[in-house]
Amino acid sequence: MSQDDEHYGVGRPSSEIPLVHDWQRPPRRPLHLTFDDGPDPTWTPQVLELLALYEATATFFVLGWRMRDHPELIEEILAAGHDVELHGDAHLDHEIASLGDLVADTDAALRLLRAHGVVPQWWRIPFGRPGEHTRALANAHGVRLVGWDIDTFDWRGDGWAEQQPSVRAVAEHGGVVLMHDAVAPGTPRAGAENTLEIVGAILQEATARQTMVIPLPPATLAGSVIPELPRTSPFERSEATMREVQGRQVAPDEAKPPTRRP
Ligand SMILES: [Zn+2]
Repeated sequence: MSQDDEHYGVGRPSSEIPLVHDWQRPPRRPLHLTFDDGPDPTWTPQVLELLALYEATATFFVLGWRMRDHPELIEEILAAGHDVELHGDAHLDHEIASLGDLVADTDAALRLLRAHGVVPQWWRIPFGRPGEHTRALANAHGVRLVGWDIDTFDWRGDGWAEQQPSVRAVAEHGGVVLMHDAVAPGTPRAGAENTLEIVGAILQEATARQTMVIPLPPATLAGSVIPELPRTSPFERSEATMREVQGRQVAPDEAKPPTRRP
């Protein structure tokens, strides 16, 4: 059994299950903080600073057009021991983009990643909404689709006050957390101070509970515990958050992108 499997309690033969076991408490998973849409010269360094303070590492799903403007931030992220993975170049919506546009966009993003020595294993597609070509493209490039367990709704400006129950639950139980270290055009927030607030709160809670905060595991070792697409949190949510989730088929990871680079 690999170390990653052990983190997840995957594949453990029944003879190895301890005799004294608290069945009320599921095996604790690590916490995977994931940041989409960066790198951003204002917010990414502040996120990196917070992660360093708590000796935590995370996964960054970066955008090609931002990488072109700030390649030094990719190097900074990698040098700090974090993982960089594929999001896209121009943040296309897979549900409506043509196959040609998707192929070109993905190729451009992959070329930029390769220039930094990054061979991605994971693909968080924009908005978390696959289109008819998404899976074939993922297979062609050898990347695995990944969603999230918890959307912090930071893209709409939620902070600690709104997300406290979710933050506490995820810090306790682990899982994949969706956040954004950049402000996507059209999103209902002016800056990412609220993301910093949520990151700080999660890291504080995770430290208190001794929950590991690490990048996503190697895709081939992750088993089925990493969600491919968004799903409703297994943890209790606040009423307000539940209303939000019920109000939409699939929670967007941010508002609609601009048709061209701002
Ligand atoms: Zn995004």
